[in-house]
Amino acid sequence: MSFNDGEDVRPKPDATPARAKDLSGRFGLRLAVWYAVLFIGSSFAIVLITYVLTSSSLAQRDHEIIQAKLGEYATVYARGGLRALAATVEAEQRTSRERVYVRVLDGGSEAVLLSNAEGWDPSALEIGTASLLDGTIVQVGRSTEARNDILGRFRASLGLITFSIIVIALTGGWILTQSAVQPIRRLSTAVRHIIATGRTDERVAVAAEDDAISELTLLFNAMLDRIEGLVRGMRAALDNVSHDLRTPLTHLRGTAELALAAEPDADRYREALADAVEGTDRVLVMLNTLMDISEAESGAMPLHREQLDLKDAAERALELYREVADAKDVALEMGVANGAMVMADRVRIEQVAANLIDNAIKYTPAGGRVIVDVESLDGRSLLRVSDTGVGIAAPELPRIWDRLFRGDRSRTTRGLGLGLSLVKAIVEAHGGTVGVTSEPGKGSVFSVSLATAGPAARGDS
Ligand code: ADP
Repeated sequence: MSFNDGEDVRPKPDATPARAKDLSGRFGLRLAVWYAVLFIGSSFAIVLITYVLTSSSLAQRDHEIIQAKLGEYATVYARGGLRALAATVEAEQRTSRERVYVRVLDGGSEAVLLSNAEGWDPSALEIGTASLLDGTIVQVGRSTEARNDILGRFRASLGLITFSIIVIALTGGWILTQSAVQPIRRLSTAVRHIIATGRTDERVAVAAEDDAISELTLLFNAMLDRIEGLVRGMRAALDNVSHDLRTPLTHLRGTAELALAAEPDADRYREALADAVEGTDRVLVMLNTLMDISEAESGAMPLHREQLDLKDAAERALELYREVADAKDVALEMGVANGAMVMADRVRIEQVAANLIDNAIKYTPAGGRVIVDVESLDGRSLLRVSDTGVGIAAPELPRIWDRLFRGDRSRTTRGLGLGLSLVKAIVEAHGGTVGVTSEPGKGSVFSVSLATAGPAARGDS
């Protein structure tokens, strides 16, 4: 963790906002264009298909009428020859509302019958042809004028419809995308304001609609909550650390001042400097431990969680302290040693076990015993460090987890009063709990409880 001494680490207020505004505007335009293109394209396809189907069904109808007529005339010709056919055509010409176009060609392609000769214009007629058995060819024409007229009107209406569709697509697209981009704009305006003012206590209003933007807003607010918590934790850590370091630093300064104030004397200086070196080391250790505690308490401590057996962590810590225990003539051993899997940071958990074992040896007189148990019970993995040491007086029990607290009887032993605070902070950062029972003169039992990790539990935090 590092602190920036007085430097303003807030982002430059206007670097992000202009770009954000620009981006949501461009996003809106892109959305509108896509919407309009899709809408116009699909509407145009529908209009085109309708036109083609109408036109071909009209042509099909003409074709069927002509074919029916040809069949009828072929029958009349077969029964009564050209004369009967001419009579039928003539009769039809008189009675029909439509003009009748009929042409009969003999085998030598000579027109032997032609009704409406002046109107026989192949470019304005749909013509059907039938060859009869004797080589005569009968042709029936139907004017395409009416059909073209219908299609012409149809085209005009379709043009109008297409124009309306384009107008609707453009305005609809614009309105729709504006309303889609609006919540994004609101969100980016709020974010811009927060960036500009640096006020992490502000929150973005969540829209009533239950959509992706609302979810994004909720996540953004949750992120601000987290950042705010971390910043608050950091501030508290800074306050605590500066407060806690004041005493040892004042002491250090006092030593130097005393040495300077006295008569110049090399031995005295040497002693004062040695004191200062020792004091500085102490302050450094204290500073590091205090920062660790603060990080763990504020949730800023990076935990590299992995599947880990508490038993292995306990055994490793126990090996570290074997020599210390032997030197003090304290028996140090594993008691219950069952597998107890947890998802935890190996280094930190070993640190927890080591601190508890260190204390147990420290506060147990020669000839005593320290026993480490590990077991898994009801979904919890337990680490227990029991000793036959001096124990803790009841009034002190609730305070032993406080930073810099040292028991009355501990004054003569080395220590900073930070070991148990660190244990508690690390265990709680893992979602676990710590506990203690103690009887003065008989000994103490410190326990750590963590959730047992199932085989499926995985992940980092
Ligand atoms: P330190 O050991 O450096 O004083 P800790 O935070 O580890 O600081 O412990 C705080 C206090 O709790 C100790 O000063 C001591 O009074 C008490 N304590 C901790 N562990 C034990 C123990 N195993 N037996 C008796 N007292 C203990």
